[in-house]
Amino acid sequence: MNKAWVLGVPLDRVTLGQARDKLARWLQEDKTRLVFTPNAEIIALAQDNPQLKQALVAADLTVPDGVGVVWAARYLGSPVPERVPGIELLESLMELAADQGYSVFFLGSQPGVAEEAAQRLKLKYTGLRLAGTHHGYFSSQEEQAIVKMLQDLRPDILVVALGAPKQELWLWRYRFVLPVKIALGVGGSLDVLAGRVKRAPLIWQRLGLEWLYRILTEPRRLKRAWQLPRFVGMVLRQKRT
Ligand code: UDP
Repeated sequence: MNKAWVLGVPLDRVTLGQARDKLARWLQEDKTRLVFTPNAEIIALAQDNPQLKQALVAADLTVPDGVGVVWAARYLGSPVPERVPGIELLESLMELAADQGYSVFFLGSQPGVAEEAAQRLKLKYTGLRLAGTHHGYFSSQEEQAIVKMLQDLRPDILVVALGAPKQELWLWRYRFVLPVKIALGVGGSLDVLAGRVKRAPLIWQRLGLEWLYRILTEPRRLKRAWQLPRFVGMVLRQKRT
């Protein structure tokens, strides 16, 4: 079995390196692949959002972005090899794109953030081809113009940072009309890459406490944090049934 299942959501049993190899292969093919990075919060949200669950189940690659998910997979008897943070998968993909000349479009976050993230990535990964950027606060009319722009630009890679579950639902809705090879939902990664939000220091990451760091440094997350104990409760119940 190459997938682990947590509360009805599949997780690919891949390391970061194996995920990157998969993406490299897909970039050579002419098909749209959806890639999501579910954490405990997203899996909890999917329990009451059938469309979100459907998008996660049908995605081409889902990597476990959090210690909660890694713990749950192990506890339920189908372990994953390691945590694959969305931001690290994104950086890996950008390195690959720069090496092999694939173009990238960044969609999402507050105005200015996607441009800043793209400029910093271009400095880090020399040769990265930027197809364009657009912020993530658009009306439904603007949304149609964005889809049209993507159809005209045909970037190889589309990075979507609209937060969960908006980015997953957005990509699910437009999956058949987006002429991209890889569409990746990345949550708050552009804010980190643009330098607007700091990722937890390495010691917090190593201790598996990145989630706590985020709650402490971005208190607006507190109102969603109850999804974490809810997730643990549901996993404990699933094991018993
Ligand atoms: N965001 C957006 N449009 C929206 C809501 C959110 O572009 O309508 C962006 C927000 O600015 C942030 C990103 O989505 O850059 C992710 O938000 P958050 O950190 O809340 O998501 P998470 O990483 O927890 O999924």
